[in-house]
Amino acid sequence: MSDPCIQLLEQLVAIDSVNPSLVPGAAGEGKTAAHIADHLRSFGLDVHVQEVAPGRPNVVGVLDTGVPGPSLMFCGHTDTVGVDGMRDPFVPAVREGRLYGRGSQDMKSGVAAMIDAARIVRERAPERGRLIVAAIIDEEYASLGADALVRDWRADVAVVTEPTDLKIGVAHKGFAWFEIETRGRAAHGSRPKDGRDAILRMGRVLAGLERLDRDLQARPAHPLMGTASLHASTIDGGHEWSSYPDRCVLEMERRTVAGESAEAARLEIEALLGRLHDEDAEFDASSRLAFARAPYETPPGHDLTKTLAACAASQGLAAEQIGMSFWTDAAVLGEAGIPSVLFGPSGAGLHGVEEYVDLRSVVTCRDVLADLAVAWLARRP
Ligand SMILES: [Zn+2]
Repeated sequence: MSDPCIQLLEQLVAIDSVNPSLVPGAAGEGKTAAHIADHLRSFGLDVHVQEVAPGRPNVVGVLDTGVPGPSLMFCGHTDTVGVDGMRDPFVPAVREGRLYGRGSQDMKSGVAAMIDAARIVRERAPERGRLIVAAIIDEEYASLGADALVRDWRADVAVVTEPTDLKIGVAHKGFAWFEIETRGRAAHGSRPKDGRDAILRMGRVLAGLERLDRDLQARPAHPLMGTASLHASTIDGGHEWSSYPDRCVLEMERRTVAGESAEAARLEIEALLGRLHDEDAEFDASSRLAFARAPYETPPGHDLTKTLAACAASQGLAAEQIGMSFWTDAAVLGEAGIPSVLFGPSGAGLHGVEEYVDLRSVVTCRDVLADLAVAWLARRP
């Protein structure tokens, strides 16, 4: 009989929860949420279902001692990215101590670990405070789940159980999505005096962005986050072979580090467009900030980090503190006044065609989380 944490992980991987905002028509988080709600009830947690979008609820399990005291939240997302190119994305396959399948690493393993940790914490019967277990939606797209969670729920601190190789994630980058449009003038392809080529004008923007990216990556690196960067994401323009294109639209992403706002990133792009206009009065372009999320850094020296490091060390881990390259919901919790760290299992292939998690790391993660919760709830003010 395998560990209950691994059993739960297998059940979760077997349920399709591809984010429908990423992949139109995809299953969404509904079935996974229902399974988690039943599971949390099965070992005695109070379960709250928070409908965030139609058929896409957050599930919040609460272990409340009824005695005022410290509070701790575990938080993980239930959605996954799409499954293009994967053979059996929802058939959890165990080989050589690894479990394969979509979401095995990102992040149904972290969700299984935090839920099973709560089961153990309940057995250990803390005397004060409360533990909140939040399984939330839509992290892979717009983090609707995290935004909804912090509207209704509070805790002193939180652990987001994204995969960190059992290291303690105390920082990660932010991102900003921009749309840049160049405008030309449609004309018959044989009439260069009438036509203004919007796509070739976007070429000037692309060359400028490439220089800006080199400049960003040459700036001094943040010790935990590295450097900022940008890349082109999608490009669209033109109608047919024989016509001058009147419009070209570039979608691009800028990754931000601590101290950089999306507004500052926007001004860099505006400055580039301004220079191109100065060089050529006919150059016509504009930019728009479509969406952004801030970088995050756990307050340095926070008791949460120290307590988690002690619990990890007592399970034989190095308890190394690291920065993550990818954005996480920890930024939303942090902005809402809930200091957060990241701590989760080891694996590889997140968002790729072969994704797996190391099963021992899932069990170790669960044990550290349970120790952390017991230690945190026992704290004296
Ligand atoms: Zn994730």
